[in-house]
Amino acid sequence: MRKILFFLLSVVTVTAQQVPDAPRQFDGKSWWEQVKVLADDNMEGRETGSPGLQRAEAYVVDQLKASGVEPAGENGYYQKVKLVSRAIDEKSSSMALVKDGKAEPLILGEDAFFSTRVDLAPSVEAPLVFVGYGLKIPEQNYDDFAGLDLKGKIAVIFSGIPSNIPGPLGSHYSTAAERWKALKEAGAIGALSIPNPASMDIPWSRISLSRTHPSMDLVGAEFNDTAGEKIGGVINPEHADKFFAASGHNFQEILDAAKERKQLPRFRLKISLRARTKTITHDVESANVIGKLTGSDPKLKNEYVVLSAHIDHLGIGEPINTDRLYNGAMDNASGDAVLLDVAAALKSSAEKPRRSLLFVFVTGEEKGLLGSKYFTARPTVPRDAIVADINIDMFLPLYPMKAVMVYGLKESDLGDDLRRVADKDGIEVEDDPEPQRNSFIRSDQYNFIRHGIPAITMKVGYKPGSAGDTTFHNWLHQRYHAPSDDLKQPVDQSAAGKYEQIISQLMLTIADNDKRPDWKPESFFRRYSGQRSGE
Ligand SMILES: [Zn+2]
Repeated sequence: MRKILFFLLSVVTVTAQQVPDAPRQFDGKSWWEQVKVLADDNMEGRETGSPGLQRAEAYVVDQLKASGVEPAGENGYYQKVKLVSRAIDEKSSSMALVKDGKAEPLILGEDAFFSTRVDLAPSVEAPLVFVGYGLKIPEQNYDDFAGLDLKGKIAVIFSGIPSNIPGPLGSHYSTAAERWKALKEAGAIGALSIPNPASMDIPWSRISLSRTHPSMDLVGAEFNDTAGEKIGGVINPEHADKFFAASGHNFQEILDAAKERKQLPRFRLKISLRARTKTITHDVESANVIGKLTGSDPKLKNEYVVLSAHIDHLGIGEPINTDRLYNGAMDNASGDAVLLDVAAALKSSAEKPRRSLLFVFVTGEEKGLLGSKYFTARPTVPRDAIVADINIDMFLPLYPMKAVMVYGLKESDLGDDLRRVADKDGIEVEDDPEPQRNSFIRSDQYNFIRHGIPAITMKVGYKPGSAGDTTFHNWLHQRYHAPSDDLKQPVDQSAAGKYEQIISQLMLTIADNDKRPDWKPESFFRRYSGQRSGE
Protein backbone atom coordinates (compact mmCIF):
# COMPACT_ATOMS: atom_id res chain seq x y z
CA MET A 1 0.00 0.00 0.00
CA ARG A 2 1.34 3.40 -1.00
CA LYS A 3 0.11 6.71 0.11
CA ILE A 4 0.09 9.75 -2.11
CA LEU A 5 0.89 13.13 -0.65
CA PHE A 6 -0.37 16.32 -2.18
CA PHE A 7 0.76 19.64 -0.90
CA LEU A 8 1.59 23.13 -1.93
CA LEU A 9 5.11 24.31 -1.52
CA SER A 10 5.67 27.38 0.52
CA VAL A 11 8.81 29.24 -0.42
CA VAL A 12 10.12 31.34 2.41
CA THR A 13 13.60 32.62 3.02
CA VAL A 14 14.80 31.77 6.47
CA THR A 15 17.46 33.33 8.57
CA ALA A 16 18.82 31.42 11.50
CA GLN A 17 17.01 31.67 14.87
CA GLN A 18 13.68 32.17 13.15
CA VAL A 19 11.10 29.46 13.04
CA PRO A 20 11.05 28.19 9.46
CA ASP A 21 7.76 27.47 7.74
CA ALA A 22 7.24 23.78 7.52
CA PRO A 23 4.79 22.42 4.98
CA ARG A 24 1.38 23.37 6.34
CA GLN A 25 -0.59 20.54 4.81
CA PHE A 26 -0.63 18.19 7.75
CA ASP A 27 -4.27 17.48 8.44
CA GLY A 28 -3.85 14.08 10.05
CA LYS A 29 -5.38 12.20 7.12
CA SER A 30 -2.14 10.88 5.61
CA TRP A 31 -0.99 10.17 9.17
CA TRP A 32 -4.03 7.98 9.80
CA GLU A 33 -3.52 6.13 6.49
CA GLN A 34 -0.01 5.16 7.67
CA VAL A 35 -1.24 4.14 11.12
CA LYS A 36 -3.83 1.92 9.42
CA VAL A 37 -1.11 0.01 7.57
CA LEU A 38 1.35 -0.31 10.47
CA ALA A 39 -1.26 -1.34 13.05
CA ASP A 40 -3.12 -3.67 10.69
CA ASP A 41 -3.75 -7.22 11.95
CA ASN A 42 -1.42 -8.37 9.16
CA MET A 43 1.53 -6.89 11.13
CA GLU A 44 0.61 -9.19 14.05
CA GLY A 45 1.46 -6.61 16.70
CA ARG A 46 5.08 -6.10 15.50
CA GLU A 47 6.79 -8.17 18.18
CA THR A 48 10.59 -7.72 18.15
CA GLY A 49 12.13 -10.36 15.89
CA SER A 50 8.78 -11.49 14.44
CA PRO A 51 7.74 -11.77 10.76
CA GLY A 52 5.06 -9.17 11.51
CA LEU A 53 7.69 -6.60 12.53
CA GLN A 54 9.75 -7.53 9.44
CA ARG A 55 6.70 -6.80 7.27
CA ALA A 56 6.15 -3.46 8.99
CA GLU A 57 9.82 -2.54 8.52
CA ALA A 58 9.74 -3.58 4.86
CA TYR A 59 6.72 -1.30 4.41
CA VAL A 60 8.59 1.58 6.09
CA VAL A 61 11.59 1.01 3.80
CA ASP A 62 9.30 1.05 0.74
CA GLN A 63 7.72 4.28 1.90
CA LEU A 64 11.07 5.94 2.58
CA LYS A 65 12.29 4.91 -0.87
CA ALA A 66 9.13 6.16 -2.51
CA SER A 67 9.49 9.52 -0.77
CA GLY A 68 13.11 9.88 -1.86
CA VAL A 69 14.55 9.51 1.64
CA GLU A 70 18.12 8.16 1.42
CA PRO A 71 19.21 4.95 3.17
CA ALA A 72 21.36 5.52 6.28
CA GLY A 73 21.62 2.10 7.92
CA GLU A 74 24.50 -0.36 7.65
CA ASN A 75 22.92 -2.36 4.89
CA GLY A 76 20.67 -0.01 2.96
CA TYR A 77 18.09 1.26 5.40
CA TYR A 78 18.62 -1.56 7.89
CA GLN A 79 20.87 -1.86 10.93
CA LYS A 80 20.94 -5.43 12.25
CA VAL A 81 20.33 -5.86 16.01
CA LYS A 82 21.15 -9.17 17.72
CA LEU A 83 19.18 -10.09 20.82
CA VAL A 84 18.58 -12.92 23.23
CA SER A 85 15.07 -13.59 24.53
CA ARG A 86 14.32 -14.91 28.02
CA ALA A 87 11.01 -16.29 29.27
CA ILE A 88 10.16 -17.75 32.64
CA ASP A 89 8.93 -21.34 32.77
CA GLU A 90 6.52 -20.88 35.69
CA LYS A 91 5.70 -24.58 35.98
CA SER A 92 9.31 -25.15 37.01
CA SER A 93 9.63 -21.98 39.08
CA SER A 94 8.44 -20.94 42.52
CA MET A 95 8.57 -18.25 45.19
CA ALA A 96 7.99 -18.62 48.91
CA LEU A 97 8.31 -16.44 52.00
CA VAL A 98 10.36 -18.14 54.72
CA LYS A 99 10.03 -17.26 58.40
CA ASP A 100 11.68 -19.31 61.19
CA GLY A 101 12.30 -22.12 58.71
CA LYS A 102 8.64 -22.29 57.69
CA ALA A 103 7.88 -21.59 54.03
CA GLU A 104 4.67 -19.98 52.84
CA PRO A 105 4.39 -20.45 49.07
CA LEU A 106 3.44 -17.42 46.99
CA ILE A 107 1.09 -17.69 44.03
CA LEU A 108 2.90 -16.53 40.89
CA GLY A 109 0.81 -13.94 39.12
CA GLU A 110 -1.38 -13.35 42.20
CA ASP A 111 1.08 -12.38 44.92
CA ALA A 112 4.14 -11.62 42.80
CA PHE A 113 5.99 -12.69 39.67
CA PHE A 114 9.55 -12.94 38.38
CA SER A 115 11.05 -10.29 36.12
CA THR A 116 13.08 -11.79 33.28
CA ARG A 117 14.62 -8.39 32.58
CA VAL A 118 17.21 -9.84 34.96
CA ASP A 119 19.14 -13.02 34.12
CA LEU A 120 17.60 -14.94 37.05
CA ALA A 121 19.76 -17.30 39.12
CA PRO A 122 18.25 -20.83 39.28
CA SER A 123 18.01 -20.75 43.05
CA VAL A 124 18.11 -17.99 45.67
CA GLU A 125 17.26 -17.73 49.34
CA ALA A 126 17.92 -14.41 51.09
CA PRO A 127 16.42 -12.04 53.68
CA LEU A 128 14.25 -9.16 52.48
CA VAL A 129 14.83 -5.53 53.42
CA PHE A 130 12.38 -2.71 52.64
CA VAL A 131 14.41 0.17 51.18
CA GLY A 132 11.68 2.76 50.50
CA TYR A 133 12.09 4.13 46.99
CA GLY A 134 15.45 2.37 46.71
CA LEU A 135 17.22 5.48 45.49
CA LYS A 136 20.69 6.80 46.09
CA ILE A 137 21.12 10.34 44.72
CA PRO A 138 24.49 11.83 45.69
CA GLU A 139 23.61 15.22 44.10
CA GLN A 140 20.79 15.62 46.63
CA ASN A 141 22.44 13.90 49.58
CA TYR A 142 19.62 11.42 49.37
CA ASP A 143 20.27 7.78 50.31
CA ASP A 144 17.59 5.17 50.96
CA PHE A 145 20.30 2.59 51.71
CA ALA A 146 22.02 4.56 54.48
CA GLY A 147 22.21 2.64 57.74
CA LEU A 148 20.79 -0.57 56.24
CA ASP A 149 22.66 -3.86 56.01
CA LEU A 150 21.95 -5.20 52.53
CA LYS A 151 24.86 -7.65 52.20
CA GLY A 152 23.55 -10.80 50.51
CA LYS A 153 19.97 -9.57 50.86
CA ILE A 154 17.11 -8.76 48.54
CA ALA A 155 15.82 -5.19 48.46
CA VAL A 156 12.09 -4.52 48.35
CA ILE A 157 11.43 -1.21 46.59
CA PHE A 158 8.32 0.95 46.45
CA SER A 159 8.16 2.55 42.98
CA GLY A 160 8.33 6.31 43.02
CA ILE A 161 10.39 9.41 43.62
CA PRO A 162 10.17 11.65 46.71
CA SER A 163 8.78 15.12 46.03
CA ASN A 164 11.99 16.98 46.95
CA ILE A 165 13.91 15.26 44.13
CA PRO A 166 13.68 16.86 40.66
CA GLY A 167 11.80 14.54 38.25
CA PRO A 168 14.52 13.87 35.67
CA LEU A 169 17.11 13.24 38.37
CA GLY A 170 14.86 10.80 40.20
CA SER A 171 13.93 9.12 36.94
CA HIS A 172 17.56 8.70 35.99
CA TYR A 173 18.40 6.97 39.27
CA SER A 174 15.32 4.73 38.88
CA THR A 175 16.62 3.08 35.70
CA ALA A 176 17.57 -0.58 35.92
CA ALA A 177 21.23 0.26 35.29
CA GLU A 178 21.59 3.00 37.93
CA ARG A 179 19.44 1.11 40.41
CA TRP A 180 21.53 -2.03 40.11
CA LYS A 181 24.77 -0.03 40.48
CA ALA A 182 23.54 1.32 43.84
CA LEU A 183 22.16 -2.02 45.02
CA LYS A 184 25.33 -3.87 44.09
CA GLU A 185 27.46 -1.31 45.91
CA ALA A 186 25.27 -1.84 48.98
CA GLY A 187 25.83 -5.61 48.69
CA ALA A 188 22.30 -6.62 47.63
CA ILE A 189 21.78 -9.58 45.28
CA GLY A 190 18.58 -8.34 43.64
CA ALA A 191 15.31 -6.53 44.14
CA LEU A 192 11.55 -6.90 44.15
CA SER A 193 9.49 -3.84 43.39
CA ILE A 194 6.01 -2.85 44.50
CA PRO A 195 4.21 -0.58 42.03
CA ASN A 196 2.50 2.43 43.57
CA PRO A 197 -1.23 1.76 43.06
CA ALA A 198 -1.78 5.52 42.72
CA SER A 199 0.44 5.78 39.65
CA MET A 200 -0.01 2.38 37.97
CA ASP A 201 -0.83 2.84 34.28
CA ILE A 202 -2.36 -0.61 34.00
CA PRO A 203 -4.11 -2.68 36.65
CA TRP A 204 -2.30 -5.59 38.27
CA SER A 205 -4.44 -8.14 36.44
CA ARG A 206 -3.07 -6.92 33.11
CA ILE A 207 0.53 -6.42 34.26
CA SER A 208 0.46 -9.96 35.57
CA LEU A 209 -1.12 -11.36 32.41
CA SER A 210 1.96 -10.59 30.33
CA ARG A 211 4.51 -11.87 32.86
CA THR A 212 5.45 -15.00 30.89
CA HIS A 213 5.92 -13.02 27.68
CA PRO A 214 9.67 -13.11 26.82
CA SER A 215 12.04 -10.31 27.84
CA MET A 216 15.00 -9.49 25.66
CA ASP A 217 18.54 -8.20 25.96
CA LEU A 218 21.13 -7.09 23.43
CA VAL A 219 23.84 -9.66 22.76
CA GLY A 220 27.20 -8.49 24.14
CA ALA A 221 28.53 -8.08 27.68
CA GLU A 222 28.96 -4.32 27.10
CA PHE A 223 25.17 -4.02 26.94
CA ASN A 224 24.41 -5.90 30.16
CA ASP A 225 23.48 -3.33 32.81
CA THR A 226 22.38 -5.80 35.46
CA ALA A 227 25.23 -8.33 35.37
CA GLY A 228 25.34 -10.16 38.69
CA GLU A 229 21.74 -9.40 39.65
CA LYS A 230 20.38 -12.77 40.76
CA ILE A 231 16.75 -12.01 41.32
CA GLY A 232 14.16 -9.54 40.11
CA GLY A 233 10.42 -9.49 40.55
CA VAL A 234 7.25 -7.50 41.07
CA ILE A 235 4.92 -7.67 44.07
CA ASN A 236 1.15 -7.15 43.81
CA PRO A 237 0.47 -4.04 45.95
CA GLU A 238 -2.84 -5.59 47.02
CA HIS A 239 -0.97 -8.54 48.52
CA ALA A 240 2.06 -6.60 49.77
CA ASP A 241 1.07 -7.06 53.42
CA LYS A 242 2.27 -10.67 53.19
CA PHE A 243 5.77 -9.26 52.84
CA PHE A 244 5.36 -6.78 55.72
CA ALA A 245 3.56 -9.07 58.20
CA ALA A 246 6.64 -10.09 60.21
CA SER A 247 8.18 -6.61 60.34
CA GLY A 248 5.81 -4.83 62.73
CA HIS A 249 4.93 -2.46 59.91
CA ASN A 250 2.12 -2.61 57.40
CA PHE A 251 1.79 -1.59 53.80
CA GLN A 252 -0.86 1.07 54.50
CA GLU A 253 1.78 3.00 56.46
CA ILE A 254 3.92 3.08 53.30
CA LEU A 255 0.99 4.13 51.11
CA ASP A 256 0.13 6.96 53.51
CA ALA A 257 3.70 8.28 53.54
CA ALA A 258 3.95 7.86 49.76
CA LYS A 259 0.85 10.01 49.27
CA GLU A 260 2.87 13.03 50.39
CA ARG A 261 5.86 11.66 48.47
CA LYS A 262 7.95 11.92 51.65
CA GLN A 263 11.01 9.77 52.28
CA LEU A 264 9.68 6.37 53.34
CA PRO A 265 10.60 4.38 56.45
CA ARG A 266 13.16 1.64 55.73
CA PHE A 267 13.50 -1.57 57.74
CA ARG A 268 14.21 -5.30 57.72
CA LEU A 269 11.14 -7.32 56.76
CA LYS A 270 12.34 -10.15 59.09
CA ILE A 271 11.41 -12.68 56.44
CA SER A 272 13.31 -14.36 53.58
CA LEU A 273 12.45 -15.07 49.97
CA ARG A 274 13.09 -18.55 48.58
CA ALA A 275 13.05 -18.63 44.79
CA ARG A 276 13.57 -21.36 42.19
CA THR A 277 13.54 -20.39 38.55
CA LYS A 278 13.81 -21.88 35.11
CA THR A 279 14.20 -19.60 32.14
CA ILE A 280 14.03 -20.47 28.47
CA THR A 281 16.34 -18.50 26.17
CA HIS A 282 16.42 -18.02 22.37
CA ASP A 283 18.54 -16.01 19.94
CA VAL A 284 16.55 -13.31 18.16
CA GLU A 285 17.46 -11.13 15.23
CA SER A 286 15.84 -7.79 14.51
CA ALA A 287 16.77 -4.44 12.96
CA ASN A 288 16.52 -0.68 13.21
CA VAL A 289 15.52 1.21 10.05
CA ILE A 290 17.27 4.49 9.27
CA GLY A 291 16.67 7.07 6.53
CA LYS A 292 18.27 10.43 5.85
CA LEU A 293 17.61 13.75 4.15
CA THR A 294 20.95 15.42 3.41
CA GLY A 295 21.27 19.03 4.53
CA SER A 296 21.96 21.96 2.24
CA ASP A 297 24.84 23.65 4.07
CA PRO A 298 28.26 22.39 2.89
CA LYS A 299 29.53 22.18 6.47
CA LEU A 300 26.43 21.71 8.62
CA LYS A 301 25.15 18.87 6.45
CA ASN A 302 27.66 16.69 8.33
CA GLU A 303 25.55 17.19 11.45
CA TYR A 304 22.27 15.39 12.09
CA VAL A 305 18.96 16.11 13.74
CA VAL A 306 17.38 12.77 14.67
CA LEU A 307 13.65 12.06 14.73
CA SER A 308 13.11 8.66 16.35
CA ALA A 309 10.19 6.37 17.13
CA HIS A 310 10.01 2.71 18.08
CA ILE A 311 8.36 0.44 15.57
CA ASP A 312 8.11 -2.74 17.67
CA HIS A 313 5.17 -3.57 19.92
CA LEU A 314 4.00 -6.56 21.94
CA GLY A 315 2.92 -8.99 19.22
CA ILE A 316 0.45 -11.75 19.98
CA GLY A 317 -0.11 -12.46 23.66
CA GLU A 318 -2.60 -13.32 26.33
CA PRO A 319 -6.16 -12.60 25.19
CA ILE A 320 -8.18 -9.76 26.71
CA ASN A 321 -11.88 -9.90 25.77
CA THR A 322 -10.96 -12.77 23.38
CA ASP A 323 -8.55 -10.51 21.42
CA ARG A 324 -4.91 -11.64 21.50
CA LEU A 325 -3.47 -9.34 18.88
CA TYR A 326 -1.77 -6.30 20.40
CA ASN A 327 -1.93 -3.95 17.39
CA GLY A 328 -0.09 -1.06 19.05
CA ALA A 329 -1.83 1.64 17.00
CA MET A 330 -0.99 4.51 19.37
CA ASP A 331 1.99 2.61 20.84
CA ASN A 332 3.69 3.34 18.50
CA ALA A 333 2.45 3.02 14.91
CA SER A 334 1.27 6.59 15.57
CA GLY A 335 4.88 7.74 16.03
CA ASP A 336 6.23 5.84 13.00
CA ALA A 337 3.47 7.39 10.89
CA VAL A 338 4.68 10.85 11.96
CA LEU A 339 8.24 9.96 10.88
CA LEU A 340 7.03 8.75 7.46
CA ASP A 341 4.78 11.75 6.96
CA VAL A 342 7.30 14.34 8.12
CA ALA A 343 10.14 12.77 6.11
CA ALA A 344 8.01 12.77 2.94
CA ALA A 345 6.80 16.31 3.51
CA LEU A 346 10.23 17.75 4.24
CA LYS A 347 11.73 15.96 1.25
CA SER A 348 9.19 17.60 -1.09
CA SER A 349 9.25 20.96 0.66
CA ALA A 350 11.01 23.98 -0.83
CA GLU A 351 12.52 24.43 2.61
CA LYS A 352 16.03 22.99 2.51
CA PRO A 353 17.35 22.55 6.04
CA ARG A 354 21.03 23.28 6.62
CA ARG A 355 21.77 20.24 8.76
CA SER A 356 20.89 16.70 7.70
CA LEU A 357 17.79 14.99 9.10
CA LEU A 358 17.89 11.38 10.27
CA PHE A 359 14.73 9.29 10.67
CA VAL A 360 15.35 6.37 13.02
CA PHE A 361 12.76 3.58 13.51
CA VAL A 362 14.04 1.51 16.41
CA THR A 363 13.26 -2.06 17.41
CA GLY A 364 13.05 -3.60 20.89
CA GLU A 365 11.69 -0.54 22.75
CA GLU A 366 9.08 -2.59 24.58
CA LYS A 367 11.88 -4.94 25.70
CA GLY A 368 13.81 -2.16 27.43
CA LEU A 369 14.76 0.51 24.87
CA LEU A 370 17.08 -1.99 23.17
CA GLY A 371 17.09 -0.80 19.54
CA SER A 372 17.92 2.75 20.59
CA LYS A 373 20.49 1.46 23.04
CA TYR A 374 22.17 -0.33 20.15
CA PHE A 375 21.83 2.59 17.73
CA THR A 376 23.32 5.10 20.17
CA ALA A 377 26.18 2.71 21.02
CA ARG A 378 26.88 1.95 17.32
CA PRO A 379 25.38 4.88 15.42
CA THR A 380 25.48 4.72 11.61
CA VAL A 381 26.67 8.36 11.53
CA PRO A 382 29.41 9.75 13.83
CA ARG A 383 27.84 10.08 17.26
CA ASP A 384 29.35 13.49 17.87
CA ALA A 385 27.62 14.68 14.69
CA ILE A 386 24.16 13.95 16.17
CA VAL A 387 23.07 17.33 17.53
CA ALA A 388 19.64 16.39 18.91
CA ASP A 389 17.04 13.67 19.22
CA ILE A 390 13.33 14.33 19.05
CA ASN A 391 11.62 11.11 20.06
CA ILE A 392 7.98 10.22 19.53
CA ASP A 393 6.29 7.49 21.52
CA MET A 394 2.53 7.26 21.94
CA PHE A 395 1.83 10.98 21.57
CA LEU A 396 -1.89 10.33 22.03
CA PRO A 397 -3.86 12.52 19.63
CA LEU A 398 -7.16 11.64 21.30
CA TYR A 399 -8.57 15.14 21.79
CA PRO A 400 -8.05 18.56 20.17
CA MET A 401 -4.47 19.78 20.38
CA LYS A 402 -4.33 23.10 22.24
CA ALA A 403 -1.21 22.32 24.22
CA VAL A 404 1.90 20.20 24.00
CA MET A 405 3.16 18.30 27.04
CA VAL A 406 6.93 18.13 27.06
CA TYR A 407 9.40 15.79 28.74
CA GLY A 408 12.86 17.30 29.15
CA LEU A 409 11.55 20.84 28.59
CA LYS A 410 13.98 22.54 30.95
CA GLU A 411 16.99 20.35 30.29
CA SER A 412 18.33 21.76 27.04
CA ASP A 413 18.02 24.48 24.37
CA LEU A 414 15.54 22.19 22.61
CA GLY A 415 12.90 23.36 25.10
CA ASP A 416 13.43 26.97 23.94
CA ASP A 417 13.27 25.96 20.28
CA LEU A 418 10.05 24.12 20.97
CA ARG A 419 8.54 27.13 22.76
CA ARG A 420 9.22 29.35 19.75
CA VAL A 421 7.67 26.82 17.38
CA ALA A 422 4.62 26.25 19.59
CA ASP A 423 4.11 29.99 20.20
CA LYS A 424 3.99 30.58 16.49
CA ASP A 425 1.24 27.97 16.15
CA GLY A 426 -0.65 29.23 19.19
CA ILE A 427 -0.01 25.96 21.04
CA GLU A 428 0.60 26.15 24.79
CA VAL A 429 3.69 24.45 26.23
CA GLU A 430 3.33 22.39 29.42
CA ASP A 431 6.03 20.76 31.53
CA ASP A 432 5.62 17.08 32.52
CA PRO A 433 2.61 17.14 34.90
CA GLU A 434 3.43 13.74 36.42
CA PRO A 435 7.20 13.43 36.95
CA GLN A 436 6.58 10.40 39.20
CA ARG A 437 5.54 8.43 36.09
CA ASN A 438 9.18 8.54 34.91
CA SER A 439 8.18 9.33 31.35
CA PHE A 440 11.49 11.07 30.67
CA ILE A 441 13.35 7.76 30.87
CA ARG A 442 10.62 5.49 29.60
CA SER A 443 11.33 5.77 25.94
CA ASP A 444 14.16 5.85 23.44
CA GLN A 445 15.21 9.47 23.97
CA TYR A 446 16.88 8.29 27.16
CA ASN A 447 19.60 6.41 25.29
CA PHE A 448 20.49 9.56 23.36
CA ILE A 449 20.61 11.47 26.64
CA ARG A 450 22.98 8.87 28.11
CA HIS A 451 25.34 9.62 25.25
CA GLY A 452 25.23 13.36 25.85
CA ILE A 453 22.86 14.17 23.00
CA PRO A 454 20.19 16.76 23.92
CA ALA A 455 16.77 15.15 23.53
CA ILE A 456 13.14 15.95 23.96
CA THR A 457 9.83 14.14 23.60
CA MET A 458 6.26 15.36 23.70
CA LYS A 459 2.61 14.39 23.72
CA VAL A 460 -0.64 16.19 23.02
CA GLY A 461 -1.22 18.18 26.23
CA TYR A 462 -4.27 18.60 28.47
CA LYS A 463 -5.28 20.92 31.32
CA PRO A 464 -5.52 19.20 34.72
CA GLY A 465 -9.16 18.36 35.38
CA SER A 466 -10.18 18.86 31.74
CA ALA A 467 -11.95 16.37 29.47
CA GLY A 468 -8.56 15.74 27.85
CA ASP A 469 -7.13 14.78 31.24
CA THR A 470 -9.91 12.20 31.69
CA THR A 471 -9.52 10.85 28.14
CA PHE A 472 -5.73 10.58 28.57
CA HIS A 473 -5.91 8.63 31.82
CA ASN A 474 -8.81 6.47 30.69
CA TRP A 475 -6.79 5.56 27.64
CA LEU A 476 -3.80 4.53 29.76
CA HIS A 477 -6.01 2.48 32.02
CA GLN A 478 -8.03 0.74 29.32
CA ARG A 479 -5.98 0.58 26.13
CA TYR A 480 -2.29 1.04 27.01
CA HIS A 481 -0.53 -2.28 26.28
CA ALA A 482 -3.89 -3.93 25.62
CA PRO A 483 -5.26 -5.42 22.37
CA SER A 484 -7.77 -2.54 22.28
CA ASP A 485 -4.96 -0.13 21.29
CA ASP A 486 -6.10 -0.90 17.75
CA LEU A 487 -7.64 0.77 14.70
CA LYS A 488 -11.16 0.70 16.13
CA GLN A 489 -10.41 3.33 18.79
CA PRO A 490 -11.44 6.97 18.34
CA VAL A 491 -8.59 9.35 17.47
CA ASP A 492 -8.45 13.05 16.67
CA GLN A 493 -6.79 13.29 13.27
CA SER A 494 -6.57 17.08 13.36
CA ALA A 495 -4.61 16.85 16.62
CA ALA A 496 -2.17 14.49 14.89
CA GLY A 497 -1.84 16.96 12.03
CA LYS A 498 -1.03 19.82 14.41
CA TYR A 499 1.47 17.62 16.20
CA GLU A 500 3.18 16.80 12.89
CA GLN A 501 3.33 20.51 12.13
CA ILE A 502 5.11 21.15 15.45
CA ILE A 503 7.52 18.26 14.93
CA SER A 504 8.48 19.28 11.40
CA GLN A 505 9.00 22.92 12.38
CA LEU A 506 11.04 21.89 15.39
CA MET A 507 13.26 19.69 13.18
CA LEU A 508 13.77 22.54 10.73
CA THR A 509 14.47 25.03 13.52
CA ILE A 510 17.15 22.82 15.05
CA ALA A 511 18.57 22.04 11.61
CA ASP A 512 18.85 25.73 10.70
CA ASN A 513 20.05 27.27 13.97
CA ASP A 514 23.61 28.61 13.75
CA LYS A 515 24.48 26.97 17.05
CA ARG A 516 23.86 23.31 17.80
CA PRO A 517 21.67 22.73 20.87
CA ASP A 518 23.31 22.38 24.26
CA TRP A 519 22.28 21.16 27.69
CA LYS A 520 21.29 23.88 30.16
CA PRO A 521 24.16 24.68 32.56
CA GLU A 522 22.01 23.49 35.48
CA SER A 523 20.78 20.29 33.80
CA PHE A 524 21.72 17.08 35.52
CA PHE A 525 22.06 15.37 32.15
CA ARG A 526 24.76 17.81 31.04
CA ARG A 527 27.31 15.50 32.68
CA TYR A 528 27.00 13.01 29.81
CA SER A 529 27.94 15.57 27.18
CA GLY A 530 31.47 15.52 28.63
CA GLN A 531 31.83 12.04 27.15
CA ARG A 532 30.93 13.07 23.65
CA SER A 533 34.25 13.90 22.04
CA GLY A 534 36.49 10.91 21.54
CA GLU A 535 33.66 8.41 21.76
ZN1 LIG B 1 4.72 0.49 24.83
